[in-house]
Amino acid sequence: MSKDVPESHPRYLSLMTRERIACGVEKGITSEHGLIAQGRGEAFDYLIGEKTHLFAQKSIDAALALLLLAEHPVISVNGNVAALSPKEIVALSRAISAKIEVNIFHTSKEREQKIQQELLDSGAEEVLLPSESATISDIDHNRRFVNEEGILKADVVFVPLEDGDRCEALVAGGKKVVTVDLNPLSRTAQTATITIVDNIVRVIPFMIERVEKLRSMQGSSLRKIVSDYDNSSLLKEALAQMQKTLSEEN
Ligand code: ATP
Ligand code: MG
Repeated sequence: MSKDVPESHPRYLSLMTRERIACGVEKGITSEHGLIAQGRGEAFDYLIGEKTHLFAQKSIDAALALLLLAEHPVISVNGNVAALSPKEIVALSRAISAKIEVNIFHTSKEREQKIQQELLDSGAEEVLLPSESATISDIDHNRRFVNEEGILKADVVFVPLEDGDRCEALVAGGKKVVTVDLNPLSRTAQTATITIVDNIVRVIPFMIERVEKLRSMQGSSLRKIVSDYDNSSLLKEALAQMQKTLSEEN
């Protein structure tokens, strides 16, 4: 199908994104539930006009500052992220010196290994998997396993497209959490330390471009970006943008 969609098509990016998710399911990387999550994301993307707004750019700067200041930053990758942005995740992990860990909602050893392989094929040197022994608390049995060298000891975790329960458990465990979530009302968006309300396919390339600028800054400037940041006001800006789109349509 992808060959049939001309780049000039008004929904080109959206159609290509669907294609990548469907391909992820075929390859056994993405779960069928991941298709539903993508659909929910698309509805909110429509409402923000499918672009990276200033509110998302502000969250991206704060996220990069937090990740650059971290002692043990980790990027947690699930089946949707691995299908949509594998190469970009690897490039970002290099730029911010973060480890990559596979962590999926519906536990499956086979799918974890396929995601790991996809990231290795995309240029990652090392991809951690949840271990049998290390766990985070406040979450049900199957989803509590993490890697000792990864999420267990991380101070900042970047978990795009995360489920609310795990986001809450990570925050309750004392970790700072950065997420990407198109729905500003989700529990993840509301619980995370920093929520980037935008589509992951636009966010990660934007972060890679922007990280050079942030890396050239002093630690004190990065700390100021983080301390000035107010996630709840950014979420309100995202909701206001959606309301504006709706009122303009009427
Ligand atoms: P929560 O558990 O946080 O309350 P939820 O149960 O509604 O949220 P989940 O399926 O747990 O949703 O998490 C997926 C989230 O990722 C959704 O909020 C969805 O809007 C968002 N999402 C899906 N695809 C994308 C994408 N491509 N870019 C950014 N966000 C996305
Ligand atoms: Mg959920």
